Amino acid sequence: GREWHLVARPQGWPTPADFALREAPVAEPGEGQVLVRNIHFSVDPYMRGRMSTAKSYVEPFELDKPMQGGAVGEVIASNAEGFEVGDHVLHFLGWRQYATVNAKSAVKVDPEAAPLSTYLGVLGMPGLTAYAGLLRVADFKEGDAVFVSGAAGAVGGQVGQIAKLKGASRVIGSAGSDEKVKVLLEEYGFDAAFNYKNGPVKDQLKEAAPDGIDVYFDNVGGDHLEAAIAALNLHGRIAVCGMISQYNATEPTPAPRNLAQIIAKRFRMEGLLVGDHYDLQPKFVEEVSAWVRSGELKYRETFVEGIENGVEAFLGLLRGENTGKMVVSLPA
Ligand code: NDP
Repeated sequence: GREWHLVARPQGWPTPADFALREAPVAEPGEGQVLVRNIHFSVDPYMRGRMSTAKSYVEPFELDKPMQGGAVGEVIASNAEGFEVGDHVLHFLGWRQYATVNAKSAVKVDPEAAPLSTYLGVLGMPGLTAYAGLLRVADFKEGDAVFVSGAAGAVGGQVGQIAKLKGASRVIGSAGSDEKVKVLLEEYGFDAAFNYKNGPVKDQLKEAAPDGIDVYFDNVGGDHLEAAIAALNLHGRIAVCGMISQYNATEPTPAPRNLAQIIAKRFRMEGLLVGDHYDLQPKFVEEVSAWVRSGELKYRETFVEGIENGVEAFLGLLRGENTGKMVVSLPA
């Protein structure tokens, strides 16, 4: 089977030359293992961090080894109790066609209950990030006005819709194209949305939120964060989920320059790591899957087909080519 290796640590924007698609033997499962044919794998922004050696909350990818990440697939050989050929599993050995997985780190998923790809998105890690980040870290309360950046992405789209479903007074989103803004307004039910490429975020946010905001869910950092601080009401909360605008930066970015407002506004700003919130998983799955079934919560997915297009899918994600979750699908 073929698998993607990181072969050089990107400086700034990654390029295709930093990666190699290599052939690897398909290992028979040892004791306690299953052999999985991957059907979908995830490309996520945090993987950019794993490509560098900067100290972070996950280990860097090793050079000349297969990259890792969320994946769902079908068990094609099993040497583990409780796992049968034909079972579907969620696991962490993506970026490859075949994975030999320790059954302990695989979770069975039901393709009848929901499409397999949704376990990587709306019902998976990004979904839990949105749910825990908004409801727990940002301490969302009914009546709050919520601003979310990266709003047409996997996490952001769900943040805005959960806020609406939980009684937000106003939900505002920003995204990088007019088509995405249209999705936010017409499909996801945001009250206001703007394309951050059409003008200064600060001005556009002021117009979209004339009465200010109580919560900012940050996926982007930089100018977005600065604009949100400016718009924040007294005792507002900022959940910092991501700062994608600086993942490929080669120099420190200046914004936000107005952090001193934290005093006068007594706002709270807290970082969020999804891994801290798996205790909410059952509640999250129950609540969100019900909204998905009833059609109250919409989600989108952008599929890129073929293992050979995996790196292009990741680069496309950084460029904003996805609406909703970016997923690489592997035809049988
Ligand atoms: P998305 O589906 O949102 O995809 C990334 C999006 O980021 C792109 O579609 C693009 O959309 C946008 N983007 C890229 N560059 C910029 C830029 N310079 N300025 C503004 N937007 C940009 O990814 P996810 O939903 O998976 O992740 C969203 C954020 O959440 C990321 O920051 C990620 O790191 C973070 N995250 C954090 C977790 C945690 O535990 N802390 C867990 C999961 C995700 P556009 O066209 O709008 O520019």
